Order: sequence, then structure tokens, then C-alpha cells
Amino acid sequence: MEKLKERIQHIKNKRPGYGEILDFYQKVKEEQDKVKASLKIETIKLQRGWKNLLAKEGFSLLQKQDFPLDIETSFTLFQTLCQIGKDANPHMAEQVRKIEEVLNSKRFDLKELIKKGIEEQRIEQIADEFGLDKKIFLFLIEESIRPSVELGMEQLRTEVDPETWLKGHCPICGSFPSLSLLKEETGKRYLLCSFCGYQWRIDRLICPFCDNKEQNSLSYLYAEGEEAYRIDLCEKCHQYIKTIDMRILEESDPSLEDLATLHLDILAKQKGYKRPVPNPFE
Ligand SMILES: [Zn+2]
Ligand SMILES: [Zn+2]
Repeated sequence: MEKLKERIQHIKNKRPGYGEILDFYQKVKEEQDKVKASLKIETIKLQRGWKNLLAKEGFSLLQKQDFPLDIETSFTLFQTLCQIGKDANPHMAEQVRKIEEVLNSKRFDLKELIKKGIEEQRIEQIADEFGLDKKIFLFLIEESIRPSVELGMEQLRTEVDPETWLKGHCPICGSFPSLSLLKEETGKRYLLCSFCGYQWRIDRLICPFCDNKEQNSLSYLYAEGEEAYRIDLCEKCHQYIKTIDMRILEESDPSLEDLATLHLDILAKQKGYKRPVPNPFE
């Protein structure tokens, strides 16, 4: 946490425009960090034969809704994150107030929603039904369950080999990656799961979203003076992934670096590319 705070301060000094977002991010991280020690989730049981079959067919071990969650902790964290959201900025504050109003009126039960497992479509339906901001609502839910999800992922870490999976989706939960990371001297490329946080290796020249490997339709975007960040573009599916060179930023948190480089997302979008897993602040 201390290293993270230092890095946040460093980025804020360099790019003051990101101050508000980074302060919010730091508060969310602090609260998630606090609940980690007391978190209780069930042990995930995998049947050996089933696991082998899945791996052979290229399927993930779990689906998002299969992760065991600490419902009480997630619920409390949700409420804490709402409080933080109210101080973040006027738009967020207004939207959070709406969410709280609906929750307090008991027109739907958030615990029940979390219990049934996270399904984006259902969350979006509820947001529609009650006139809530989908992005903010989904963000608050995902960040409240994140400590449980990451603990579940840790349980399964030894069940898969990060070096040999080589696919565009996560071997543990099947989600698409939020970022790509370069590591080690040779610049091995890894993908970071947008849902469970697992990291696995992938070829340097491939689009994780459509498996395109044709070199002449894969290209990069850089911003001058920012050699630690890159946008990997695919001409085939017109989507992109942000790549962070962890050899330069060793100790930092990739999600933090993602937030501090929204200008690259704007650049990619201006050129007509989409990000399959957008970061919540875009
Ligand atoms: Zn995953
Ligand atoms: Zn592609």
C-alpha cells in the first residue's frame, strides 16, 4: 500500500489532471486492502477429470458467477465505496445517492443480487429498471466483490500453468484481459484478467480478442516520452489493448497505470478503435 501511495503521488505531480481519479482509486484500494485479512470464502472444489477436460478443450476452470464470495463483507464494502463515491465528484455523488435511495427503499436486494453471482446482464437490467448509471453501479459491485474474487483466484493459481495457456481469455474465469504487460528482460508478454486478476502468458504478436496473428494488421500507438505505455491495435477486429511495460514500472500496479493513461484511450478511440474491456473512468 505504501509503494502504491508513493507511485500515486509521483503520477499526480507529473500529471495533476489525474488527481481526482487517482485519489478515488487510492481510497478504493485502501478499503479493499482492509477487508482482506478477515475475508471468508468457501474452498473451491474442482474435479480432476473435469479440469483436465476443460483445459484440453480450451475452457476456463470457472465462470464469473461460480466464484465463492464473502457476501457480508462485499455488502459492507459496497456501502463504504458508496461513501467514497460521494466525495469523488459531483456526478458520481449524484449517481451514488440514487443507488442508495433504491437500496434503502428495499425495491431490490443487493445481497441477493451478489449471492446469485455476478452477471453483467442482470446488473444492467436492474440499472435500467431503476434508472441507475450502469457503469457506476457495475463498478461499485465489481469492486466490492473483488477481494473475494481475488482470493478465489489465489486458490486456483496452482491449477493452471500461466506459461502454456497462450489464449486470449483467462484460464481461470474465462474473462477477457483488461491489459497486456511486458515483463522480464526479454519482454515476455502477459495478459491481466479483467475479472479475477490472474496473469498468463501470450505471444507478443497476437490480438487477444480475435486471435489475429498477421503482422501487417497489428500495430502500435505510443505517446511521446511515455515509453512505458503502448496501445496495441488490431486492424482485423478494430479493437485494442493497452500494454504496460512492467520492466520500466516494476513495482507499480497495472490498474493504476491504466487509469493514469486515459489520454492513450482517447487517442485510440479517436482513431476508431474500441476497447473490449474499458476501464471504468473512460
Ligand atoms: Zn480471470
Ligand atoms: Zn483483433
